Amino acid sequence: MKNKLKTNNRFRFRFTYRFIILLVVLTTLNVNWNTNLNAKIPIQIQNIENQIFETKHNDLNKAKCSYPEQTYKRLNKLDKNNNIQISQVKESNYDVLSYDLFVDWYNLFDEKIELKVKEFAGLQVMKIAITKDNTNSIEINTLTMNVNSVRLIDKNSKIDLEYSIIEADDNSEPNVIMLDKTYNINDTISIEIAYLHNTPMQLGFQYYSTSAVSIPYPIGYTMSEPENARNWMPCKDRPDDKAFSKISIRMPIGYTAISNGLLVDSAKTDSSIVYVWENDIPIPTYLMHIIASKFYKWTDYFQRKGQFNDSIEVSYYAWEQDLPEFNSKSKYKPRESMQPTVAMLEFLSNYLNEYPYQKYSQASAFPFQYGGMEHQTITTVNRSWLQNNAELGVMHEVGHHWLGNMISCATWNDVWINEGGATWTEWLWLDEAYNNDLYKSYVTGSTLSLTSKTQIALNNSIYGIEPNMIFTGQNQVLVYTKAGLIYNMLNRILGEDFRIALTNTLEEYKFKSLTTNEFRNSLKKYLLQLNNTKIDIDLFFEEWVYGSGHPIYQINSKYDIVDGKYKLSVNLNQIQKETNPNSKVKEVYKTPITVVITTEKDGVFKDIYKEMSINNKIENFEIILDDEPIDVDIDITAIIRTVVVNPLGISNPTISENNGISIYPNPASKDNLVTLRKYYTTSNIEANLENENNDFDIINSYEIYDITGNLVETKININLSQTILDIQNLSIGNYIVKVNSNNKITFQKLTIID
Ligand SMILES: [Zn+2]
Repeated sequence: MKNKLKTNNRFRFRFTYRFIILLVVLTTLNVNWNTNLNAKIPIQIQNIENQIFETKHNDLNKAKCSYPEQTYKRLNKLDKNNNIQISQVKESNYDVLSYDLFVDWYNLFDEKIELKVKEFAGLQVMKIAITKDNTNSIEINTLTMNVNSVRLIDKNSKIDLEYSIIEADDNSEPNVIMLDKTYNINDTISIEIAYLHNTPMQLGFQYYSTSAVSIPYPIGYTMSEPENARNWMPCKDRPDDKAFSKISIRMPIGYTAISNGLLVDSAKTDSSIVYVWENDIPIPTYLMHIIASKFYKWTDYFQRKGQFNDSIEVSYYAWEQDLPEFNSKSKYKPRESMQPTVAMLEFLSNYLNEYPYQKYSQASAFPFQYGGMEHQTITTVNRSWLQNNAELGVMHEVGHHWLGNMISCATWNDVWINEGGATWTEWLWLDEAYNNDLYKSYVTGSTLSLTSKTQIALNNSIYGIEPNMIFTGQNQVLVYTKAGLIYNMLNRILGEDFRIALTNTLEEYKFKSLTTNEFRNSLKKYLLQLNNTKIDIDLFFEEWVYGSGHPIYQINSKYDIVDGKYKLSVNLNQIQKETNPNSKVKEVYKTPITVVITTEKDGVFKDIYKEMSINNKIENFEIILDDEPIDVDIDITAIIRTVVVNPLGISNPTISENNGISIYPNPASKDNLVTLRKYYTTSNIEANLENENNDFDIINSYEIYDITGNLVETKININLSQTILDIQNLSIGNYIVKVNSNNKITFQKLTIID
């Protein structure tokens, strides 16, 4: 999932708190997100008789739709030995093999029908395999829905089953279904649940009429991550239990309803149409999805690698009014916005494994409170992304189809595997489609964004965040940014072997869910096969995934001139500390680092890279250099770190990176566009999360001084979170940039090179 940014400024859009990484091409965005529509829908839960449901059924039968006869010819989750595969981590006495769902959305979309409550009827058939002997009851999740009947489908008859709602410790309120008899391991049964969704609570299912919000057509869609599928269909709502799915939706003629997998059937009556989507690749409930409106569809094709005749449809759905060819006044550019999709699929098919799904679609939604959601084969994208300003968002959701969908988190504790993975693919895409500098710039910006939030970064680990807290507020910087940087670190330190180990892990766990430990052990196994021992994987996960914080290196260095050479002595001291009892900050992070030594001779600057393993809190080394060293740093694009340093050649003031200000690139030549950026700082993080306009997050002015203290450049009244430093009049050398940000003064070093 990708969260929405609230902004009205093109620079802020890129660097605000949720995702500094969202966009490559930035345009003005000015959307009023008034999604608080709940109040307009009267709270009136009605008793609906089964009869209503049966009536709708009969309609369908007339429509010659394959529904409601269930067919399972392809719906068996079997391994090579014809054994049922079971993938679960928490104790459960059954495994779902398939969902066969029908929902009737006709009344929602037929504007002649006035419903006080936006209700719909549904029928779910779950085919399950019993995984525990002596099972006589099972639990399913039906949180806010009215269950009308639960029946066992037994050959030609249906047997009514008793069911009741129980209070559970985890607030999941499962429905307990008493089975007709005792079942044992590998018994398979089908259970049919007829239900009515008639709660105005817009969790899991969203519907907007044209009278409620200014949109060209009514729109309805589901949004389940992490645990909201149970709000629109009865299911076993856990990410570790993947099943096949078949989803049928009844709509008025003229409307489209899209779901996972392929459209295998559509049956019309005079007024209604039933779309039947079938997905024969295992899917967790949170990735199951329906979106419906009057959509215009256009299509690309993606040719599978190495399979000349095998191409899949890459399709896009948006309102006709949003396409300039139908509406010259449209501010959207849907075709351009979605255009890189095929190249992204090709890229990851080459970089990781072949794209395994039957199609890739993207449908635009509004109002939609997120940026995008990686619903398997039918990604939801925020309508605002159609302004051709969210290429990395598009990449993020494509990336999830490998990291998140092909392999998924087994529990919500493990969701960093999904979100970190997708975030990392955004940076890979920058390197692939643009250049390495842009990749480095984003990784640097992301690291600064994380480390500037000192309290959050030090006190919280990315593992084990409560499901309802994953996608909220401050945790984003952990679940997305830090987790993405962890993938990046593994990639940078292990090199090509990481890609191989990850690809093998994807293959081994293909279409399954895995825990953090399984992910770790799998990487470890494949790295061992490759004889790559650059990282102790157990320790790495202990430091970065289960633990919290990151190293804060104090760098002290000096040099002597010996026989015309420069003997540089460097002292690296990790000074991070636990700040409260919750923090799991290590005294020493033993992750290897790359030290960057910058030297200068006759105005020519050179970077020397030294890879170092770290064993102790304090590490010293000496190095003989031909040229004069002027700076010692730790490569921020290869490890999450903060550096506190007294730069060589510059006496005072002391410069720290951890003040929410960055200059990039630095050192810079006059050919570079040098950006000065403001990131969040610890002191105003809470305010940041509350404040929609982010007015506090700005640079007011800057002054540039040479090392003798002369003011050489200044710019006032900037009032943006990012600006370009004017360096055209500066000669080669070192400078101090004095930055006024929100009336707080900080100092940064700037080096101008040839
Ligand atoms: Zn995501």
